[in-house]
Amino acid sequence: MSPACGAAAAVLALTSSLVLGGCFATTGSVEAGPATTLTTSAPAADAPGGTTGDAAPGSATSTDPAGYAVLETDETTGAPITYSPCRPVRYVTHLTGAPDGVEELVQQAVNVIAADTGLTFTDEGPTDEVPDPEREAQLAAYGDDAWAPVLIAWTDDAAIPDLAGDTVGLAGSQAYTGSEGRSSYVSGDVMLDGPDLSDILEGPDGEAQVRAVVLHELGHLVGLDHVDDPTQLMFAEDNPEVTEPAAGDLAGLAATGAGPCVEDLATP
Ligand SMILES: [Zn+2]
Repeated sequence: MSPACGAAAAVLALTSSLVLGGCFATTGSVEAGPATTLTTSAPAADAPGGTTGDAAPGSATSTDPAGYAVLETDETTGAPITYSPCRPVRYVTHLTGAPDGVEELVQQAVNVIAADTGLTFTDEGPTDEVPDPEREAQLAAYGDDAWAPVLIAWTDDAAIPDLAGDTVGLAGSQAYTGSEGRSSYVSGDVMLDGPDLSDILEGPDGEAQVRAVVLHELGHLVGLDHVDDPTQLMFAEDNPEVTEPAAGDLAGLAATGAGPCVEDLATP
């Protein structure tokens, strides 16, 4: 689906030589309808080891007067694809491999994104589910009649090759097009590189830096793309001075929380 995720996935070298990662699974739109099988495309991962800098020219990350960019737009309406604000964003957390003490940092980041988007995030607790780059939006483990909750998973580059090298996180969501013809995100995942983030945690201003990475990835989760402005949290490269959403980020987060209230998002 257009330049969104794939282009944004160009890898980003951080000044700290770690990479904030990019979008992950935004191409998984599935169509409603009894004759249509639920299928989700394999997520487009970042391209670790790629060039430094932001996304490819001409992508959605080109200078945006709004101060933010979105990963995907609805093919019918041209509006950003978002989570439906009248449904909670349910999430589970896989903590194995997490550095000590980061559970609170993740919770803080979720709270910030919830406040800045207006979306409701519902913590459904820990999970043993391991991250999978081809994770589908509907999983038997969570029942046939519900979308899988968002998975926030601590992992490493041995398990998730796209986290190899300097990439510290990947995130994205999967859209579903209900019978109303509107696409909304219904599930997604955030993968955090435990060893890399453990190193950051032990460095200067570690907690704020790790929280900033989680905030950046949650920004992707709710639909934000990278921007070219280094003063924004959604800038592709790490800027240790930016640990909270800045003006463009805030505008983007507000926009991702202001999508249509789509009621018809039951699983097919
Ligand atoms: Zn990113």
